[in-house]
Amino acid sequence: MKLMGESRRSSESNMMATAQAGIITSDLARTLAREGYFYPPDPSSAEYSTLGGNVACNAGGAHCLKYGITGHYVAALEVVLADGRVMRLGGKATKNVTGYDLLHLMIGSEGTLGVITEVTVRFIRQPEAERTAEAVFPKLADAGRAINAVLASGANPAMLEIMDETAIKSVEDYLHLGLPLDAEAILIIQTDGSAEEAERGIEIVAEVCRQNGAREVRVAATPEESAEMWHARHSISGSLGRIRPNKLGEDVTVPHNAIPAMIARIKEISARYGLPIVIFGHAGDGNLHPNILFDKRDLEEFERVEQAVGDLFRAAVELGGSLSGEHGVGVLKRPYLEMALGPVAVEVQKRIKQALDPHGILNPGKIFV
Ligand SMILES: Cc1cc2nc3c(=O)[nH]c(=O)nc-3n(C[C@H](O)[C@H](O)[C@H](O)COP(=O)(O)OP(=O)(O)OC[C@H]3O[C@@H](n4cnc5c(N)ncnc54)[C@H](O)[C@@H]3O)c2cc1C
Repeated sequence: MKLMGESRRSSESNMMATAQAGIITSDLARTLAREGYFYPPDPSSAEYSTLGGNVACNAGGAHCLKYGITGHYVAALEVVLADGRVMRLGGKATKNVTGYDLLHLMIGSEGTLGVITEVTVRFIRQPEAERTAEAVFPKLADAGRAINAVLASGANPAMLEIMDETAIKSVEDYLHLGLPLDAEAILIIQTDGSAEEAERGIEIVAEVCRQNGAREVRVAATPEESAEMWHARHSISGSLGRIRPNKLGEDVTVPHNAIPAMIARIKEISARYGLPIVIFGHAGDGNLHPNILFDKRDLEEFERVEQAVGDLFRAAVELGGSLSGEHGVGVLKRPYLEMALGPVAVEVQKRIKQALDPHGILNPGKIFV
């Protein structure tokens, strides 16, 4: 699969490109960017994840707030079924409601229904301009109100990310960037579009954040300043190893107006189990990445990690969210599938799996217990 990295052909007139499933996501995005095009799905793992893996997990990223997730960009797939037959799904016609939507059944199926061998994706024109702002909130609740207000403001941000106080401290201890250690949250927000749209959008964002309790809002004056703001956000994962040797990064989602409540629940869980949990994520689409820090050599501590994970999932579901916004079910979330989906939906999914893979040879052990 790793050899299947060649980009096969692009079709500019249709704004679509076809590639083998093994192409690295960022190679595809860079190839298109050289021609002035934009492939928006941008998982943080884009430098090493494959397009096939992105489709299999329906990957998202920071830009998905405005532009949508991988599934929104998949026009066609070539899939090898469990019995060896090759199935082609979708195509280059924009509209197609002929038969069941098997294309979207395959997207996000985590390799349990077929092996994706070729992908045709849509792409769009690169936005002309981007503007970034960083807003510092002494109170998390105010940051929560600001998220909702920004989303309702018409600023139409492309990215809206949150770092809570645990993430701020972790990055500051690591990189000494001068982040405000007395703040309960930082929001990093980007607008884009035409130069006027991006500028107008960031002005609205700055104003709305100030009205909702931001102590300070900095708008990047140059691309370098913008990169510096994103550097803090992108350095969180790397900073965690200094605190504890192991981390378990979760991926829960909640409605975006429930972010302050979810963060409060995560802090309760952290205190209950005596485990540091660092919180950051895609605030604009309600997708948080609480990272539990631990030492896996300590078996008693690892038991507490497992209990804490269960409580995290329960909290997300109780607040109207789900187990995963990006990473999928895999193995770890299998025991919680029924809690999230209910018995009927799980039973229907098992029947689909049984119909397409009766001998259970495709990714055995994934998704279902
Ligand atoms: C540091 C880090 C950051 C991450 N950030 C993000 C993020 O921002 N957003 C996000 O959505 N995810 C993120 N992820 C999760 C992961 O990288 C993505 O889900 C990615 O889409 C997986 O692609 P991959 O090629 O790495 O697949 P793998 O990890 O190799 O596989 C993932 C699953 O897909 C199946 N699979 C892979 N290729 C195919 C194929 N061709 N056909 C059928 N099934 C296949 C595998 O069997 C497996 O079950 C992150 C992971 C890490 C480690």
